[in-house]
Amino acid sequence: MAKSISIYPLGVGDAFTEKFWYSNMVFNVDGREIFIDCPAYIPKMLAENNRVGDQQVTIDKYKEIMITHMHADHVGGLEELAYMQYFKTENPSRIYAPTWLLQDIWTHLRTAIEESPRAGNGIASFDWYFEPVPMGKVHDFGGFTVEHRMTNHLPRTIAYMFDFGNFKLGYSSDTGFDPSLIEWLDQADVVLHECRFGPTDVLGGDLKLFHCSIEDLLTLPESFQRKTHLYHYADDTFDDDPLKPNYDIGKYRLLVQNKTLKLL
Ligand SMILES: [Zn+2]
Repeated sequence: MAKSISIYPLGVGDAFTEKFWYSNMVFNVDGREIFIDCPAYIPKMLAENNRVGDQQVTIDKYKEIMITHMHADHVGGLEELAYMQYFKTENPSRIYAPTWLLQDIWTHLRTAIEESPRAGNGIASFDWYFEPVPMGKVHDFGGFTVEHRMTNHLPRTIAYMFDFGNFKLGYSSDTGFDPSLIEWLDQADVVLHECRFGPTDVLGGDLKLFHCSIEDLLTLPESFQRKTHLYHYADDTFDDDPLKPNYDIGKYRLLVQNKTLKLL
């Protein structure tokens, strides 16, 4: 059972954002901080956060990180974190993910950081830099559990369901509109869902293949809308005031960067 749960969004933007930071959340559970994803430009993001945000966050707080998928706006900061352990391994960050995703992460990082000045043979391994923790279908975090399932996104991407005993929190990750995923998320008391506002027929194709339009989300029942906060949105979602979006968002609310959202 959790006594207090809050969400602190360090970033809420999509992969093309110039106005926000890439989507990156801190879930605070009774003082324990779990980071969802680790996008690029962490030092710049935290410097701005620490000027304008509700909470002060330093890079050494990234000690427990859950990864959703391999796009750079979700994992680009892992290499930045790895350099903190470049010369010595001390209190490395834990990365939680299914085994296949941990393998993808090291495959991605390996070409940049495998060759190291520390090793006798000049070759470093993943666990020099991080403590990789393979997650089963339901992972026991000690005090709460987290279940995951696949979403409609490319490359392979996982959504998360946190179960705190007395409260459930669902995280869609990047995904196209998926009624079965919505049904799974609907067991949660609060849901964070990605959202694309505006046209989806851009870049010579249709973003709806792997991102979720507000039009599709507006077809869902009001009960789902009321408990769901939208994130991973584009720069034109609102001008200055997130309470005055440029689009009809029904009963949904926008997750606001650098503002604490207290759940419990
Ligand atoms: Zn993505």
